[in-house]
Amino acid sequence: MPGKSLRDRLKNGESLIVAEGYIFEFERRGYLKSGSFVPEVVLDHPELVKSLHEEYVHSGSDVVLAFTEQIEWAVEGGADFIVAETFGEFGEAMMALECIQKYGNGLPSVITLSLPMSMKMFDGVPIDEACKRLEDAGADVVGLNCGRGPTTMIEPLKVIQKACKGPIAALPVPYRTNENQVTFFSLTVPGTDKMAFPLDLSSCYCTREEIRKFAEECKTLGIQYVGLCCGNAPHFLREISAVYGKPAGALKYSPEMEKHYIFGDEKKNDPYYTDMYKNKLTQAQQ
Ligand SMILES: [Zn+2]
Repeated sequence: MPGKSLRDRLKNGESLIVAEGYIFEFERRGYLKSGSFVPEVVLDHPELVKSLHEEYVHSGSDVVLAFTEQIEWAVEGGADFIVAETFGEFGEAMMALECIQKYGNGLPSVITLSLPMSMKMFDGVPIDEACKRLEDAGADVVGLNCGRGPTTMIEPLKVIQKACKGPIAALPVPYRTNENQVTFFSLTVPGTDKMAFPLDLSSCYCTREEIRKFAEECKTLGIQYVGLCCGNAPHFLREISAVYGKPAGALKYSPEMEKHYIFGDEKKNDPYYTDMYKNKLTQAQQ
């Protein structure tokens, strides 16, 4: 929305849908390597990077993230605000905020943390205190990204919300983390002891319904900066857009199972179709 700054939009109570997870998606598509996760695709296939950004906007993302770690490049490139996603340590997050404030030309800052297994960062700072200190130091948005899936992100979000006054960010990974496997690093392939991260995480995907439920909980909590991190895909993000009432282009193509040739409303009680399906199943099993 040109002319309206991030601060104004959030102050007016607006929510932003945020697509992340570009690295994982390009790895899945075969354009960068898992493990090193160097975003070579930016140099090798810039047209695909542009295209994926467009896909995420189509599914509702208000935010287009640039693939840069240089604050100056973001400023020179005309960024509306600067995002720093930090991994595990409060000290790192505070340093990122200070850098944005020093080199970011006054642009608003979004500082998100990846919370490890407990409610404390690796350097011992409780997550609510970490976010409060970042907010007090001038961060415009604070919150959580990556690491945790929807199920294990809700509780820390509530704790953060109690400590902070301003907008909160929530960008989980769309995987089925649980109380025993709090982050996606600890997930195992269902039915085995094999580590799922990173190559077999697809065996632990959330359902669309689970993503929708997470979005509903976030909306109820009043989370204003909401999206998905590693593992994100347009069909997941569209669920969040639908819950938040965003006019995403992809909503035009939401499922219409009632029209399905076997399971649709008109067909499911029609003996012609149900018998045909049963016969096909029987034939396939013979
Ligand atoms: Zn991530």
